[in-house]
Amino acid sequence: SPEGMAARTNLRTAARQQLLSALDGAVTLFEQEAKARVDTLRKAQKTVLVILLCAVALEALFIFRPMVRLVSRYTRNLYEMATQDGLTGLANRRHFMESAERQFRISKRNGFPLAALILDLDHFKSINDEHGHQAGDDVLKYFAEQIRTVLRGSDIFGRTGGEEFAAIIPAIGPSQARDISQRICQATASAQRPGLPAVTVSIGIAMLDPQDRSLDDLLKRADTALYRAKNEGRNRASF
Ligand code: GH3
Ligand code: MG
Ligand code: MG
Repeated sequence: SPEGMAARTNLRTAARQQLLSALDGAVTLFEQEAKARVDTLRKAQKTVLVILLCAVALEALFIFRPMVRLVSRYTRNLYEMATQDGLTGLANRRHFMESAERQFRISKRNGFPLAALILDLDHFKSINDEHGHQAGDDVLKYFAEQIRTVLRGSDIFGRTGGEEFAAIIPAIGPSQARDISQRICQATASAQRPGLPAVTVSIGIAMLDPQDRSLDDLLKRADTALYRAKNEGRNRASF
């Protein structure tokens, strides 16, 4: 009957609406739960990120920074060991020769004057024999300190052998070279070394010559001049 049909349709509509609203409710609930779960995950992610950043910062502070410091200290030590003389702290022979070569080339190229000095302590063997090797070492150290006060920071200076030293002084003429050398002789001879034996030094001087082809040519002349200073009585400078 038509009434029956209408009643059935109404019933179906009502049932569908109830079902849909129930489904809606379920979906909303599910959405809310999912959102809460995502929020929790986001928070966890942030926490992990903060922890990770803290770990990286702590590593940088307590592992990498000390490591970098250690490595740079080792590098500095290695450089010092490779370039310095352990006893006096002056440039060792190799380092002196490198710096001297560089200055030799610069002065030669530009036609600038340059003085080479070779300094050798007098009768040093007898200082060792009479006062002992330790006293000899102390005299060498003291001598190195004294020379440093006479020469300038821009001068090239080193310990080239046992009791032999050398200096390369740019931009000075022969009279200045003689002055400086005599000042070194006087300072050495008159130095008050508390508890240490007296010592004198002989110095050979050579000036850069346009004929010099290498640093060796210049140093050979300084060496010959040193022998002259020794033969003329020591405690003096000679060309
Ligand atoms: P001269 O006036 O002719 O230069 O005589 P000298 O005795 O100084 O020269 P010689 O070359 O005969 O002797 C140098 C001495 O220097 C011999 C060596 O035992 C000593 N000597 C070299 N290096 C060192 C060092 O590092 N420490 C000490 N204490 N002595 C050294
Ligand atoms: Mg000597
Ligand atoms: Mg010598």
